[in-house]
Amino acid sequence: MAKRYQEMPEEENGAQEQQYEDEGGFDFNIWMQGAMKHTPWWGMSFAAHVLLALILAAIYVPEQGGAAPPPVVYKQPEPPKEKIDFKEEEIFKDEKLDTEEIIDPTIRPDVEISDHEETDNDEEFEMAKGAEDMLSNSPLNNNYFYDSIGIGGGSGGKFGGRFGGNKNLTRGGGSSKTQDAVINALRWLARHQGPDGSWDADGFTKMCKDGTCPGNGYPENDIGVTGLSLLAFLGCGFTHLSKDKYDGICFGDVVKKGLKWLIDRQDKDGCFGPQAGKFMYNHSIGALALAEAYGMTESQLFKEPSQRGIDFLSKAQNSYKAWRYQVQPGDNDTSVTGWAVMALKSAKMAGLVSPQTGFDGALGWIKEVTDESYYSVGYTAKGTGKVYVKDMNENWAGHEALTAVAMMCRIFITYDKSDPALEGGAKLIVKDLPVWDASKQTEKPIDYYYWYYASLALFQYDGPEGKYWKGWNDAMKNALVPNQKQKADGCQFGSWDSDVDRWGFEGGRVYATAINALTLEIYYRYPNAFTGGEKKKVPGAKDDKKDH
Ligand SMILES: [Zn+2]
Repeated sequence: MAKRYQEMPEEENGAQEQQYEDEGGFDFNIWMQGAMKHTPWWGMSFAAHVLLALILAAIYVPEQGGAAPPPVVYKQPEPPKEKIDFKEEEIFKDEKLDTEEIIDPTIRPDVEISDHEETDNDEEFEMAKGAEDMLSNSPLNNNYFYDSIGIGGGSGGKFGGRFGGNKNLTRGGGSSKTQDAVINALRWLARHQGPDGSWDADGFTKMCKDGTCPGNGYPENDIGVTGLSLLAFLGCGFTHLSKDKYDGICFGDVVKKGLKWLIDRQDKDGCFGPQAGKFMYNHSIGALALAEAYGMTESQLFKEPSQRGIDFLSKAQNSYKAWRYQVQPGDNDTSVTGWAVMALKSAKMAGLVSPQTGFDGALGWIKEVTDESYYSVGYTAKGTGKVYVKDMNENWAGHEALTAVAMMCRIFITYDKSDPALEGGAKLIVKDLPVWDASKQTEKPIDYYYWYYASLALFQYDGPEGKYWKGWNDAMKNALVPNQKQKADGCQFGSWDSDVDRWGFEGGRVYATAINALTLEIYYRYPNAFTGGEKKKVPGAKDDKKDH
């Protein structure tokens, strides 16, 4: 693999790390002081800032041309009257690790996950003020609430059945094995989180304990892979308030350090990370992570940065169109647009201001690039075909990844199951089921990005009992679960290889592990849009009147 950035300095961390290596364990306040002194712009030392998985970094350069579209005036929300004071010492409480509670990594934590989310005042999480209408403790209760997209309502509350130890793991074909895989992936991520709270796409190996885990990604994707890693924890129900410890690491600390790092990377415009290169992948995924963190906890700590992140997303959208790598660059692409729609929808469900113009423009774009004859969806135009990066994966076969992204957007935006593009897309996807064979790059390559979006789209469209979903799910589980690294693999335990993946060179092992964990959280991360209980207004949704 080309090491485009290997000449870049491995700076940083020296001074900071020393502060954390005292034997007493991690002191969040000390870290915070150090980090605040040291921080904000170490990201700037990265010369080229591109984004997350550059996942679909393109070779295709769409023509510019035609009359410039009329400008859209985005209504900016009122700025907060007074700046929210980050009293980290109070809100990011220092919770010292209790080494007596270290879980032996050789003992698999049982499916009965010991979630014990608590509020700042130590109430049980589901009793938290302002949040009780968002959470329903039992994923088995019948008082389903469904919102327009599937992120709302559903068994277990607005954000699915992700909370609590009683996740309905078997919904849609999950099992103790898929959940073990999720927990083991989160454990690998927790062990490889940097002392500053980030996941370092190319420098995570500094955290390796015994041996080095291969799989560097590009350093300009740190924001994106950190956002994905946080989403993997949030998707399993872990928030900054969680107390669960695995391998001696408190998952709540992992989440709060990651969120703190992300918030520290937000610039005056609201953008997460530097506005250089193809930065909108990074920003969209960062904004999605923060919106979910806010939506799940309603912590005021996250409200303002979440809203500012969404406002920047709106600002970056092309007038009456979609998103691409920069702010209103004129051209659009389906991949970045997918992440942007996910962020806008999570923000809307969290009660943030999420303009309808975002959804309308995205839907218009998706329709424009859908080939109505068989419902395949293009990248930067209709019929773009295989997307690849020259000299990296140009010989790898393609998948209908963007068709899956577009299905997800349609479901999230229109909530119209009769849309023929949904069944058409589902049929395309099930013709290309996941297969793990690293030798088949030119025929049927491993493609975590495709598997993630296709799982989301099919599960939403078809429901846990649907025929398309069942066939897909069996193949997906059989591809991912047996190929996760096991205890015998030492430090790699819980992760997935990135060099076998179609886009692994972009985000590396951190990306591979985070996105595969998200795929295996499918059974409870979101409720289904179309199946299951009676559709009702979500009592906690503050901004849902435009939906269906
Ligand atoms: Zn390692």
